[in-house]
Amino acid sequence: MLTSVIAEHSAKVQAQVAQACIKFDRNPKDITILAVSKTHSAAAIRAVAATGLHAFGENYLQEALLKQKELTDIPTLEWHFIGAVQSNKTRELATNFTWLHTLEREKIATRLNAQRPEHLGRMQVLIQVNVSGEASKAGVAPADVFSLAQQVVQLPNLELRGLMCIPLATDDFALQRQAFEQLRHLRNQLQHKLPDARLDTLSMGMSADLEAAIAEGSTLVRIGSAIFGARS
Ligand SMILES: *Cc1c(COP(=O)(O)O)cnc(C)c1O
Repeated sequence: MLTSVIAEHSAKVQAQVAQACIKFDRNPKDITILAVSKTHSAAAIRAVAATGLHAFGENYLQEALLKQKELTDIPTLEWHFIGAVQSNKTRELATNFTWLHTLEREKIATRLNAQRPEHLGRMQVLIQVNVSGEASKAGVAPADVFSLAQQVVQLPNLELRGLMCIPLATDDFALQRQAFEQLRHLRNQLQHKLPDARLDTLSMGMSADLEAAIAEGSTLVRIGSAIFGARS
């Protein structure tokens, strides 16, 4: 897709988020749009950055590292890893990303903590929760979130910021809200049990369900196709 069209889409998504904030009485300052750039080029990322977005989400490490190298001239970019984590890739993750949305194992947390370069400060992490209980989906079962969170908050080089989910895809607005409400409740319980942790982030909502997510308290929507177009 033409970068001019991508820039238009980015502006449209920002307007859509602003509209949803008015409708559901949310402060737009509390919501980050993460532009999910997997499979899309560095040029496309550049076009979106020019529209005012600075947070970018990538799923595949090698692909992300190549694009990061092409974009070092934009120092304000903030990189989020939102893909499945392989344990032999944790050093590169810890070195090249500010955020990880898909933590689901203590072993990965321990490795990232050990490998995080000190000058980068703490890595910001979210625990991925399998809210829909689908056997095929990644993420921790809701009942196991607290136990993993308790382990993560003890690691000095990681900062547990909240929870992330990818619910079962549905066009039903009420069902979309139900799944997101579940994640918000889990986060609230976690805040109660871990009052010293900065659990201010709910990474929920994608192109097709961002309004429902904002209605339920999302603080970060992960938007791919609505900005960059369909992935081939
Ligand atoms: C690809 C992806 C997205 C973006 O999905 P769209 O439907 O294209 O907006 C969001 N979150 C995760 C974890 C993804 O892998």
